[in-house]
Amino acid sequence: MLDPHPRRHRNQFDPDPHERELVGIVEAILAADELDARALDRIVKNHPKNGTGLFSRSEVIAGFRRFAPGRSWAVDELAFIERLRMRPVRTQSGVTPVTVLTKPYPCPGRCIFCPNDVRMPKSYLRDEPGAQRAEDNRFDPYLQTWNRLAAYHSIGHPVEKIELIVLGGTWSFHPEPYQIWYVKRCFDAMNDFGAGMDRCAEAGAPTVDFSEIPAIDGRALESTSYNRVIRDALTRSHGGALVHESEAATWAELEIAQRTNEVAACRNVGLAFETRPDEITPGEVQRLRRLGGTKVQIGIQNLSDRVLAMNRRGHDVAATRRALALLRAAGFKIHAHWMPNLLGATPDGDIEDFSKLFGDADFRPDELKIYPCSLVESAELMAHHESGEWRPYAPAELLRVLMAGMARTPRYCRITRVIRDFSADDIVVGNKVANLREVAERALAEQGVRCREIRAREIRGEPFRQEDLRLSEHGYATSIGREVFLEYTTPADQLVAFLRLALPEDRTQPGELGGSAIVREVHVYGTSLALGRRAGGRAQHIGLGRKLIARARQLAADAGYGDLAVISAVGTRAYYRSLGFRDGPLYQHADTTA
Ligand code: SF4
Repeated sequence: MLDPHPRRHRNQFDPDPHERELVGIVEAILAADELDARALDRIVKNHPKNGTGLFSRSEVIAGFRRFAPGRSWAVDELAFIERLRMRPVRTQSGVTPVTVLTKPYPCPGRCIFCPNDVRMPKSYLRDEPGAQRAEDNRFDPYLQTWNRLAAYHSIGHPVEKIELIVLGGTWSFHPEPYQIWYVKRCFDAMNDFGAGMDRCAEAGAPTVDFSEIPAIDGRALESTSYNRVIRDALTRSHGGALVHESEAATWAELEIAQRTNEVAACRNVGLAFETRPDEITPGEVQRLRRLGGTKVQIGIQNLSDRVLAMNRRGHDVAATRRALALLRAAGFKIHAHWMPNLLGATPDGDIEDFSKLFGDADFRPDELKIYPCSLVESAELMAHHESGEWRPYAPAELLRVLMAGMARTPRYCRITRVIRDFSADDIVVGNKVANLREVAERALAEQGVRCREIRAREIRGEPFRQEDLRLSEHGYATSIGREVFLEYTTPADQLVAFLRLALPEDRTQPGELGGSAIVREVHVYGTSLALGRRAGGRAQHIGLGRKLIARARQLAADAGYGDLAVISAVGTRAYYRSLGFRDGPLYQHADTTA
């Protein structure tokens, strides 16, 4: 049965009945000379909840927020939270990620490795952490966004700068009114949360109970089964339509929500969509941009037409080349998905394929998810496994492929994942080692090879001296011209900030970007901090972003471009205006000579 009460209502914590215990905990924490995990445990145990239970860290923070006013505690909320934060956290790359999933919906792909969990959007499994959250929130964009922000806030993470990641099936295949509505509702949630408003109760009632649809068995699968089942369920519930009439909004409505977000307390600083190469057209690129998109996650999977065809991807490598060129020319960041161990692949063939990813100027993604093919029950690959046509690589084979890939990844690319988040229970055969990245990194280190990709070099929360930083510039060819990757690093080659500058060869292309150099990304590391809060000298607040943009402007001018455009997120528009950029229809622009 559908849960009419999303998770938020089950988890709400009221500190008022626990004032004595929570004040005791806060004061003991503030009085402690050294606060390691054991000392914190002791303090919490000394002030039990309801006589026997233990307060969680988020409840202690809620207690601080509730009872600090009127007390003379010597620290503010940020300092208190920093005292509690024992471990590195997800937000150390500078922004807080919020991942949301679209509802189950047909996908134009027929990929044989793709899960067919009809309770989920295509390619996702219910046991994946993000998928569970989405289901708990009925795939509603407002509930998912608002509740994720609430969860972050409750454990003390700043939520002022949000990267929104919209996943699930093929985004571009959803009808445009649904896309606009979906993004608008995410913006509504950010705007409301920042303003202290909770309109979760107004979220529309669920229209389809996907959890009640019987599972599909991959062995008996026709390639259209998922689509047929989902199409039937949706149209049955929506009077013959694939989307409910309440799931639609207009561009004008979205633009109002976006303008509100420009000055909201909880701003969108990046927006990613997930789609397929053959869905990328000039019109689609414009639509993604109009929605506020800054990044595209794109499944390229393999760079051999033979392997793509065997796995029924439904597009060829030429489509991938075209898609990446269109996205790059429009300034989008390119987050590619690549899969070793597909049907028809071999370890040596995959290593060669990976070399093409960066050896061929038509690809060269900015970020990369490596998803070794794992067999799940509902995928059509089951039949190929049982017939003996496909087998998972042995652990040593897979490790060899990953090590070769990680060693070949250049310093301008970030490997965001090396395995998919499937639970071991869902994997019939295939890799079940959750920390494969660490295993591969260790094995490379034993051979004296250090990974240079971005994630391996990020400074995270470590201190550094500004005067030690070095600015370097790395140029490389792309399908549309030249790219310069500018980076600030420490003497130990830790990455503190970077900028991606595209210098298109064709300066006569029509439209807003004709003749422009394009800033595709500016990223400054350091714990994500509340806008306007003092940061005690961390990276985000020593003007590295500003310096990188000034240098990009100079490089663009030197190369003869009169205009520098930036693919700004909605919530960073005000920042770029403060640097002298003016608004264009879809980008912001600065004269390089000014
Ligand atoms: S395009 Fe993506 S979501 Fe669709 S079937 Fe292929 S892998 Fe699955």
